[in-house]
Amino acid sequence: MAVHKRWITLILSALFSGCLIMYHPMETGAAFKINRFYYEKKGEVVWDLPSERKEVAITFDDGPNPAYTNEILDTLKKYDAKATFFLVGRNVARHPAIVKREVAEGHELGNHTYTHPYRLPPSAYKKEIDATEKLIEQYQKNQVKLFRPPGGTLNKPIINYTIKKGYKILLWSWHQDPRDWMHPSASSIATHVVSHVRNGDVILLHDAGGNRQETVKAVKMILPILKKKGYKFVTVSQLMMKHERFASLFKQDPDLEPFRIFNEIR
Ligand SMILES: [Zn+2]
Repeated sequence: MAVHKRWITLILSALFSGCLIMYHPMETGAAFKINRFYYEKKGEVVWDLPSERKEVAITFDDGPNPAYTNEILDTLKKYDAKATFFLVGRNVARHPAIVKREVAEGHELGNHTYTHPYRLPPSAYKKEIDATEKLIEQYQKNQVKLFRPPGGTLNKPIINYTIKKGYKILLWSWHQDPRDWMHPSASSIATHVVSHVRNGDVILLHDAGGNRQETVKAVKMILPILKKKGYKFVTVSQLMMKHERFASLFKQDPDLEPFRIFNEIR
């Protein structure tokens, strides 16, 4: 049932968006469209990972930032929740202790470029990815490489580059962007997430890049409600590991650490 509902939503979303998602052209000047069905089927770009299991992946972008990230980590710990942090390289360089803590507490790291540019020639953009990759590898080795472009903006050179480097491009569930970057209240962020939740969602939140006080509060509201509803909070890779699209990439031993297995099989 849940899967059917998802397909209906997907089809409706596709109708409204013309089956295609428009991304910023960056320096090319030409509009670029990415075909969700094509990239999703190939497992190269991930929006969400529908499942029969009550599991969701909460993701935090733009950090780390000591004003918000530590408090979010405290809340995640309280509810035994694992999350995925899409890090901005220059913030990693500024706040290494927080990144260490993220890894030590079982969270996953993803690459969100070095300075969070929206428009940049591909050569400079690739350098941003490489610089952040080097930093992340200091903290999290041999794991699945996740890349999330700032603002969800992609172009063909960047897609090709990241895929060639072994990345999975992680966007987010269309219905799970509460737009916390527009500073809505904590309760409106929480209400959005809780009322739209479905198994396998990739939820988009931010722990840096502006005032995130309401996001910090929202996380404290979201986790107990969803936990009570029976949801587990897992990393993106953990969600991928159990999904049929990626299942063949992982061995079946549930005790093995998913990220390393992923890299070995590739
Ligand atoms: Zn961002």
